[in-house]
Amino acid sequence: MENERTKYAACPLCESGEISALATVNCTGHAMWREPLEPNITWMQCGTCDHVFTDGFFTEAALDVLFGNTQDMQIVGNDIEYHRNISAKMVQRVVEALGLPNDRLWLDIGFGNGSLLMTAKEFGFDVFGIDLRKKNVEDLNACGFSAYHGTLRSAASEVTFNSRPSVISMADVVEHEPYPLETLRTARELISSPGMLLISMPNASAPLWHYWNATDQNPYWHEIEHYHNFTRERLYDVLRDSGFEPRHYAISERYRCCMEVLAATA
Ligand SMILES: [Zn+2]
Repeated sequence: MENERTKYAACPLCESGEISALATVNCTGHAMWREPLEPNITWMQCGTCDHVFTDGFFTEAALDVLFGNTQDMQIVGNDIEYHRNISAKMVQRVVEALGLPNDRLWLDIGFGNGSLLMTAKEFGFDVFGIDLRKKNVEDLNACGFSAYHGTLRSAASEVTFNSRPSVISMADVVEHEPYPLETLRTARELISSPGMLLISMPNASAPLWHYWNATDQNPYWHEIEHYHNFTRERLYDVLRDSGFEPRHYAISERYRCCMEVLAATA
């Protein structure tokens, strides 16, 4: 569609103008793709920091088309028992790092089906959810949880929290953000110190990723919702640039080939 993406003039991480096209792939097989969206995604690479990203990010008009379809997995309460098992392992790692929750605030950005947030509540955190999907916010509110429709940035200026969050989770969120550093810096401004960031996304330096590329079966080149393919190394760099120190690495059980990193306030 016309005016579908705002094009990056420079690398969205290091601002280098030395960027070039890496690959153009068809994305019409994606569950969320539909007319009149462009059938192709063009991936770029930065010649300075090697970061890989799409040639632009969706405009509001394009996002309206895209978000017209909520994937089943993103419906609040979907397959709640199965997802509780996965979420519990994520919450446990945070508790091991931080100690007993004692009603400290856990802010979950992009809560999707709500499982991580509900499980954090079960463990004893006070919880608050933020999501771009209005329906999910309404559904979570209806379940008795506090939730806000918008971005972390808009929440930071519009919401009065009971306390500073001790935990901020961004599970499979930052690769959807046009400018990840802005989001991470907003999180750093908001979080209490000491505090813990839980962040997950596909790992583009995992041997599995390279194997997928070599055998032409990497699903993430066709992932219409992602703007970035982070390596673990590049993620650690941007965490440090935004005031966090990586503390723990695990593989994620939520999505394929994903990493799940805990980073403490530096
Ligand atoms: Zn760069």
